[in-house]
Amino acid sequence: MTGGSGGQTAVAAAGRQIVKSYGSGETEVLALDKVDVDIARGAFTAIMGPSGSGKSTLMHCLAGLDTVTSGQIWISDQEITGLKDKKLTQLRRDHIGFIFQAFNLLPTLNALENITLPMDIAGRKPDREWLDRVVQTVGLGDRLKHRPNQLSGGQQQRVAVARALAARPDIIFGDEPTGNLDSRSGSEVLGFLRRSVQELGQTIVMVTHDPVAASYADRVLYLADGRIVDEMYQPTPERVLDRMKNFDTSGRVS
Ligand code: ADP
Repeated sequence: MTGGSGGQTAVAAAGRQIVKSYGSGETEVLALDKVDVDIARGAFTAIMGPSGSGKSTLMHCLAGLDTVTSGQIWISDQEITGLKDKKLTQLRRDHIGFIFQAFNLLPTLNALENITLPMDIAGRKPDREWLDRVVQTVGLGDRLKHRPNQLSGGQQQRVAVARALAARPDIIFGDEPTGNLDSRSGSEVLGFLRRSVQELGQTIVMVTHDPVAASYADRVLYLADGRIVDEMYQPTPERVLDRMKNFDTSGRVS
């Protein structure tokens, strides 16, 4: 996926004809059915669709957490389909950040130690200036010495987001990152994700079923039955809700 200028491609991740099936014969489930997708660099993309439409599978395949049945996936210029385990692990560590529903913070470490832990493990020195910017953007300045149990759910998830950002990954994948949060903490975290795209140039892909969460994105991709059936730019909660109502249960636009 070359193109773009100055060495950085305009596409942070791409998939071509991605097929993912589970099981075989009569019990075969086609979770992804020849999906073509480009994820723009420096943009916030939301993936929506009914339960079972393939959202998590698509995210896991794009992030190299799961293998595809056929098709190709690139992270920046690197094709990841076909990479051996060791190379793939390395690529995930160096180029991809993750945010899950569970915050996965270590309880014995304070917020700052949690943020720098992946880099400490990889033996990499955090870029001080960048780390300061990340911490400033997350608004955790006065909470860095606190342990996770001294922080609210929203603050803990912001630590998890800062941890993903600290290593300056090419792309961050979030699977329902606000799924465990009340709406106020959820909007705190979403506002921060938005700012990290706008102010830090981060690329984010987020799976969500929540129209309000999706409205923080630049673009929404709609999945149904393992296919991308629609997309929307500059979404608002109302437009996202409206669009969802236009899908019948088979996911086709009615
Ligand atoms: P979503 O995230 O949109 O809810 P998923 O990606 O989890 O959808 O699942 C897509 C389809 O693939 C569903 O039919 C689901 O039952 C099936 N599926 C997902 N993971 C597995 C698995 N490990 N084994 C068998 N079927 C699976």
